[in-house]
Amino acid sequence: MIEGPPRPYLNYIPEYLKESVGKWVTHKLEEPGLIEHVDSGGRKVYTVKAAATPNGRYSTDTMRKINDLARKYAGGSMRFTQALNMEFVVSDLAKARELKSELKKLGFPVGGWKEHLWSLTSCAGYFHCALAATDAPSVIQRLGNELSEYFDEKELPAKLTVAASGCPSSCGGSFLTDISINGIHTEIPVVTENVKNCDLQGTAFTCPVGAIQLKTLQNGEKTIEIRENLCIGCGLCVGACGGIIFKTPEKTDGHAISIGGKASASRYGTTLGRIVVPFLPNEPPHYEKTVKAVRTIVDTWIRDARKGERIADWVDRIGWEKFFEKTGLPFYPQSMDYLDIRAITTLRDGSGR
Ligand code: SF4
Ligand code: SF4
Repeated sequence: MIEGPPRPYLNYIPEYLKESVGKWVTHKLEEPGLIEHVDSGGRKVYTVKAAATPNGRYSTDTMRKINDLARKYAGGSMRFTQALNMEFVVSDLAKARELKSELKKLGFPVGGWKEHLWSLTSCAGYFHCALAATDAPSVIQRLGNELSEYFDEKELPAKLTVAASGCPSSCGGSFLTDISINGIHTEIPVVTENVKNCDLQGTAFTCPVGAIQLKTLQNGEKTIEIRENLCIGCGLCVGACGGIIFKTPEKTDGHAISIGGKASASRYGTTLGRIVVPFLPNEPPHYEKTVKAVRTIVDTWIRDARKGERIADWVDRIGWEKFFEKTGLPFYPQSMDYLDIRAITTLRDGSGR
């Protein structure tokens, strides 16, 4: 627990920013990866934005190098944005340009604003989560390798965000990105005898659709039963109780691709992504089918969209029928659905593969 009164964040920002906080009047993109901000007194500072590692993991060595750059150029502080990118606020333009080249030397692309790739993010996935159906950090790393040139060098029709989540809980925030990968389980978990070591009532409460029923066996022992007709295979009970398992996840787990999500207020406001590839098997380490499908979507969007049209806006103009025609992606019964209960339930029969 944090004790004591809230600590004013102004204590932790560089001196050259303190005067300007709350007094900003304008900003402009000075050059790729560098924004100029001007306050009401005409004071200027510059934000430099560098791409994060797509899965958000850093060695301590790299963190020390980032730390050194923040000390040298940004008054001893920087931030990782919600999309995991790095932002440094620098007091003058020459220093900001120096910082840009230092970041590039470390291998971090600098850019990610305007008509470019803005972010690649993922949840922890298998790294420490029991619910994962796909290795989200690895999938997004592969997509990062494929798309990184759009962060700084090549232009796109509009902003692009890409995210991967290991399961439909979507901790990677992937429903609200232009292209999202979401892990899915397509089997119903089974209850093993180890269930007796679990908090049965607590486990039943984790089920979002009430598919878990408490039961008393003839010998008086308590257990639980999964009602298959209700279960949507979300995996929450598997995460809550070690006595519930997916039997053959290596065969039945995979991921879906959705497009058209965005959290912005532009045009029609926030939209949720809709499924365009209902199921792809997990095929590490290269995930060729996933990379190929995403590449197809991006290339078709680049060819066909008008300037300023994000993927949702582009599809809205041409219609879904044309989207499938132009990309050549096969249409399945689950295509066009949202990644919700209905989609997952219908995937279970395998007809979306
Ligand atoms: S999205 Fe799923 S797999 Fe990823 S961290 Fe959240 S619960 Fe775990
Ligand atoms: S997998 Fe999800 S829907 Fe199925 S029983 Fe477990 S918690 Fe309920």
